[in-house]
Amino acid sequence: MILARQLTKTFPGPDGVAIHALGPLDLDVAQGEFVCLVGPSGCGKSTLLRLIAGLEQPTSGVLQADGRQPILVFQGDSTFPWLTVYGNVEYPLKLRGWSEKEREAAVVHQLSLVGLSRFAEAYPYQLSGGMKQRVALARAWVSDPEVLLMDEPFGALDEQTRVALQTELLRLWEGPQQPGSPTARKTVLFVTHAIDEALALADRVLVMSSAPGRIIKEVRVPFARPRDAIQLKRDPRFGELAYELWQALK
Ligand code: ADP
Ligand code: MG
Repeated sequence: MILARQLTKTFPGPDGVAIHALGPLDLDVAQGEFVCLVGPSGCGKSTLLRLIAGLEQPTSGVLQADGRQPILVFQGDSTFPWLTVYGNVEYPLKLRGWSEKEREAAVVHQLSLVGLSRFAEAYPYQLSGGMKQRVALARAWVSDPEVLLMDEPFGALDEQTRVALQTELLRLWEGPQQPGSPTARKTVLFVTHAIDEALALADRVLVMSSAPGRIIKEVRVPFARPRDAIQLKRDPRFGELAYELWQALK
């Protein structure tokens, strides 16, 4: 679904010296796969997602993303403060020209899936951090993207809320697919700085080197699905894999 070969990105630096932000990087993500990307701060993770989303152009190399336009969930709070929860989730459907009736059915359904029905008329400032990320999740999910790019969506949350949101995401991704959906599971590329989060979510974890980022390690995550983000911490393989990833990051 996503293919990169010798992909690089260079930015013009503020002092005229170019910043080599990414690559050369090779990446393959199959359809329906959940891949987590971990790597040190500044190694080019956000740049990679922005390239795949088409918000930046590669400096060199090959990049292909199949299917419909990927949806990118930005780092930090990406809710629109001037729209209600309902308006936030409705927004991508308006862009796609859905009728009001179609939009209402989809938004109401999506809000109930993430437990936000009661808060439909609330504004983001009235919500906790975790609820805002639920809105972001609902907004990403409602238009039924084939490819979802998520940039540290839970990075700013406290530990307990983070695990609750991981559970929520697993439930959405592993759960019954939307009727009429052309794809089975969504293809997800999820950036995180938390190794336990990567192991809880992913089929495969990729480790990036420090800048300019390349993929330096791949770990296949063997835990069965549906997963419980808390239970799997007791699996002895969890500690082994976490250690292996830490070694690669070091
Ligand atoms: P990460 O998400 O892994 O922390 P980023 O992709 O945000 O890293 O950034 C990688 C490098 O590219 C950093 O050195 C950053 O300063 C630089 N960079 C990112 N975007 C731009 C930009 N639009 N202009 C100039 N430099 C940028
Ligand atoms: Mg980033």
